[in-house]
Amino acid sequence: MPPGGQLFALLASVELADLDAEQALTYVAAMERLARHAEALRLAGLAQFADCNGVVAEPVLPGAAKLVHPGGDGTPGLDSFAIDEYAAEANLSHGSAEHQLGIALDLRHRLPRVAAALAAGQIPSWRARMVVEATRSLSLAQVRLVEAKILPLLAGLGGKRLEDAVSAVLIDTDPEAAAARAKAAARLRQVTIDPSGVDGYKSGYFCADAADVIRFDSSLDLVADYLGQLGDTDPKAERRAKALAVLADPHAALALMRQATGAHTDARTDTAATGPAGGSGAQVFPQVTLYVHLTRDQYLGARDGAATLEGAGPISTSQALRLLGHSRVRVQPVIDLDNVPSSDDRFSRGRMREAVVLKNPTCIFPGCPRNSRRNQHDHTVAVPDGKTAIDNLAPPCPHHHNLKTHGDWALAQPFNGIYLWRSPHGRIYLVDRTGTTTRVA
Ligand SMILES: [Zn+2]
Repeated sequence: MPPGGQLFALLASVELADLDAEQALTYVAAMERLARHAEALRLAGLAQFADCNGVVAEPVLPGAAKLVHPGGDGTPGLDSFAIDEYAAEANLSHGSAEHQLGIALDLRHRLPRVAAALAAGQIPSWRARMVVEATRSLSLAQVRLVEAKILPLLAGLGGKRLEDAVSAVLIDTDPEAAAARAKAAARLRQVTIDPSGVDGYKSGYFCADAADVIRFDSSLDLVADYLGQLGDTDPKAERRAKALAVLADPHAALALMRQATGAHTDARTDTAATGPAGGSGAQVFPQVTLYVHLTRDQYLGARDGAATLEGAGPISTSQALRLLGHSRVRVQPVIDLDNVPSSDDRFSRGRMREAVVLKNPTCIFPGCPRNSRRNQHDHTVAVPDGKTAIDNLAPPCPHHHNLKTHGDWALAQPFNGIYLWRSPHGRIYLVDRTGTTTRVA
C-alpha cells in the first residue's frame, strides 16, 4: 500500500501488543515509509509558504525586508522577513529556518525526482537533504544531470557508499568546480586540541590530507600492535591512544620498534625512519600502501574525472596524480573479476585476494559501509563442499562474518558478486557489487 492517509489509518488501528516480531518489523517499515511521505509533504508545504512570500515591496528601504535566495540556482527569491515568521512557528533560529526553506525550494525547483522518491517513501529524508546540500553550488542544468545519474542509487546504497557515489558524480559532472572545492577544503586543514579536559584526558580534532591521515592511522595501528606484542593487554582502541605518546617521541618510537622487531638501526637510519616514506629505516617502520583506483586514460593525463583513494573516497584525477607523484607507484592492471582461476589453496591469496577486494570494496552485508581491504575472506559455501574461487568468496566485516557464522542468517552467492541474505524472519535481501541493497522477498 502506498504511503498516505489510508496506510496511516490502517497502522493507527493496529494493537502493537498483539504483533509478533515479524509483524512488528513490517509495522516499523510501513511507518518509516509513512514518515518519509509526511516529511515530503512538510517540505512541499514549506516551499508553498516560500512561494507565497516571493515578492517584497519596492523600493527596498535600508533595514526593510529584501529578497533573499535560500535555495540554489533556479529557485525563486523569498521575502527575508518570511524566514523569521517560519522560525517563530517552528521554534528554530533564523539560520536553521533559512536552511530548511532552502532544502524545500531546492527539492521543488531543482530536484523534483528526488522529492517524488521521498514522497513515495522510497528514500529516507536524510538522503534527500544530503543530495540537496551536495548539489547546492551546481547550476540548474548541472543539477538536472546529476539528479538523473544518482536517482537509481538513492534507494539502495548505504550512507558512506552513497556519499562517495554522489561525490564521484559531482567530480565527473564539473571537474573545475571539484578542483575549486578541493582547494577550499585544503584551507580547512587544522589540528585542534580541546582546551579543557575531563578526568585527566583531553580530546582533539584534526583535518589533514587524506593520504597523510591514512598513513598516520596505519602508524597508530602498527604501534598499537607492537604494544600488544610486548604485553600491553588493554583493548586496541586504548593502545592506539597510547601510540600517540610513542609517536610524539621519535626516539621512543624507534626504541619500541627495535624492541618489538629485534631490528638494529644506527642514528642515521633512525632519522630516516621517522619520515612517512620510511627511507632506509623501512625495515623498522614499514611503508604504508595507498590504493588509488583510476583508469589508464586518467593515469596518462588524457582524461579528467573521479578517481578513488581507498579509505578516503572519490578524488579528482589531478589529486590522484599528485598523490602518485609523491609515492613509489606499482601499477596493477585491471583484473577481470569474472575470470580469475580458482585455487587449491584453502585461503585466498595474491591475485585472488585482490580480486575479491575489488569485487566488493566494502562488506557484503546490507548497508554495511566497512572497507573490505582488511576483512577475512569467507567461503560462501564452506570448504570442502565449496572451492576457493572468485564466485565462492566474499569479504564480510568481522561483525557480519560472525552474524553469518553464529546468527540465524543464511547467505548464498548465486552469481559472482551477487549476494542473497536471508534474515531470521525469512526476509531476503540482495546485495550487488556496487553495494546496492534491494529487499526481494
Ligand atoms: Zn559489515
